Amino acid sequence: MAELTTDVRYVRGVGEKRALALRKLGVETLFDLISFFPRRYEDRSKYKPIALTGDGESVCIRALIADTPQLAHIRRGLDLVRFRAVDESGEVHITYFNQSYLKDTLQRGESYVFFGTVEQRGGRRQMSNPVFEREGQEQRVTGRIVPVYPLTAGLSQKTLQQSVRQGLDECGERLPELLPEPVRARSKLVQARYAYENIHFPADFGALELARRRLVFEELFVLACALGRVRGDRVRESGLAFAPPEMEEFWRALPFAPTGAQRRAVGDALRDMDSGAVMNRLVQGDVGSGKTLVAAALIWAAWKNGYMSAFMAPTEILAEQHTATLRGFLEPLGLRVGKLTGAMSAKEKRAVKAALQGGELDLAVGTHALFSQDVEYKNLGLVVTDEQHRFGVEQRAALIGKGARPHVLVMSATPIPRTLALMIYGDLDVSVIDELPPGRQKVDTFAVDESYRERLNGFIRKLAGEGRQVFVVCPMVEENEELPEKLKSAEEHAEALRQTFPELRVGCVHGRMKPKDKDAVMAAFAAGETDILVSTTVIEVGVDVPNAALMIVENAERFGLSQLHQLRGRVGRGKHKSYCVLISDMDNEDVRARLAILCKTGDGFRVAEEDLRLRGPGDFFGSRQHGLPVLHIADLGGDVEAMQRAQSEAKALLAADPSLDAPENAALREAVERLLRQSADSFN
Ligand code: ADP
Ligand code: MG
Repeated sequence: MAELTTDVRYVRGVGEKRALALRKLGVETLFDLISFFPRRYEDRSKYKPIALTGDGESVCIRALIADTPQLAHIRRGLDLVRFRAVDESGEVHITYFNQSYLKDTLQRGESYVFFGTVEQRGGRRQMSNPVFEREGQEQRVTGRIVPVYPLTAGLSQKTLQQSVRQGLDECGERLPELLPEPVRARSKLVQARYAYENIHFPADFGALELARRRLVFEELFVLACALGRVRGDRVRESGLAFAPPEMEEFWRALPFAPTGAQRRAVGDALRDMDSGAVMNRLVQGDVGSGKTLVAAALIWAAWKNGYMSAFMAPTEILAEQHTATLRGFLEPLGLRVGKLTGAMSAKEKRAVKAALQGGELDLAVGTHALFSQDVEYKNLGLVVTDEQHRFGVEQRAALIGKGARPHVLVMSATPIPRTLALMIYGDLDVSVIDELPPGRQKVDTFAVDESYRERLNGFIRKLAGEGRQVFVVCPMVEENEELPEKLKSAEEHAEALRQTFPELRVGCVHGRMKPKDKDAVMAAFAAGETDILVSTTVIEVGVDVPNAALMIVENAERFGLSQLHQLRGRVGRGKHKSYCVLISDMDNEDVRARLAILCKTGDGFRVAEEDLRLRGPGDFFGSRQHGLPVLHIADLGGDVEAMQRAQSEAKALLAADPSLDAPENAALREAVERLLRQSADSFN
């Protein structure tokens, strides 16, 4: 018997060349081999008498070869082996193409099981290239459900099927049981040995389902344990306990009623802040779902408890906007709100810093300047950061160092599917605002090609004539990227628009501008001083221009769906009917299918789920942002329930055995450590 760690070359028929091909698939050891799961299955379990087989039916027949297989050389590169096979009910003509050796393998008078597709031609049944096995021998490729593996050059299905079979026979008995017995029992999961056997060679579809359920759970459970261990220390950090205030007092002071989702998110956070542990909560909500109000409610709650808050925005202009919004919500209730950004004069900054140190402000809104070295807070209880994907880990760490372990609320408009959020954030708690404020109108979305250009220009003219403003987004052009002919760069496109619309004021922002200049152009647009703002995706981060009613995206095929959805969220924020036009070469069917999703739905989570499905989790935020480990069998889009169960079981287990030191958890610990090694940089 071999070990799980034995090299795959140990397998009969696997030499240097095939070992190399297997390595490309990530398979080096026997354990890798039997963990290499089929992509799909072919049902070869149905047998039929020949006379009952229908045209086009894929089926197994038990038949006797009735005449000596004949080899016919038709022309160069085309040899046929032909014969008739019979059972009690009828006969079938079988032909093999270019497998002349079968002439000697297949014996007249012997019985075989053939699997293939039956064709009926002029009353005669025939089969081409059926797979076959001697009747009565162990059935591996006929008479059962057969695995179909993802392949790479140099490997055939047959090689893989046989190698996996041998791998299972050699070391199946050594497969460790990673799942603690009580966990397995609670979730009614089959044992490891059974699962590995049946994921490859299922006895029937019921067995396959049981195997899959167990392996999906196992994969997610190991992952959840790994995430839990990485984050374990942080979670147990103790923090300030805030008594939840009577929220009605806050809600009543608003010009509108909070949505149910806003109330829930606030409730979640209040419970965190009352728990005695530091809050680490992500509030996710589609653009326009009202996250700022959630932040305001919690800032108010901190103030009620005698603590000040800091609200950090990623850019000057957003800091500006949030200051105005939060003042609107909070000053009438008696909070003192200040602003601190890098662009302020030294004198202004000094005054604000003194006020923060002296406790004369209850809320500081700003950019990362809020946490530069010389800023001291008298009693910082809560830090809110907006659009978390723009902040580095160090910044977060720096800000946490500023106070007595303030609670942290992170707000993100990137609608991450719940499963993915659980994976990425692990024990970072997540509240989802899955409800838009009432009366929000849908942004009508169209996907068009160049032929629509004239009409679009007319539309821009019409809307601008009514006093509306227009966003135009061009893809980011990399420094040394060769410009494909039709790709629009923001600067050139802005110039072209100035030619087309001499009567309109066109601004332009792109990534190569200094932050200060960018902010100036955006501020001018926000103030209504320009009519059209051409930009690269730098505007993605959430400027509020309620007067903008049209979003145009050039070369829309260059953007991810979630990104397009974010862009679309820049319009439809005011009272004006708003539109989004996605311009792209619509010849490409994939592009059309993707853009059609946006035209169909305004729900960011649905868009994100489709996007995840189309691009895979690794690509979801762009390759660099999240190095998620590769999942072999679990489907992040689909296995939500399993993910939740795995998560809560992992939490319970780690609470009892935080370092997985118990002897019965040894195998699990090893698997967790292997995963952590494999994705050493995925978890920071
Ligand atoms: P987000 O940051 O989630 O994209 P905002 O916080 O900017 O969204 O809110 C978008 C708009 O909706 C703002 O003008 C805000 O005043 C408004 N708003 C927020 N909550 C409500 C509500 N419950 N009812 C009506 N309008 C709301
Ligand atoms: Mg916002």
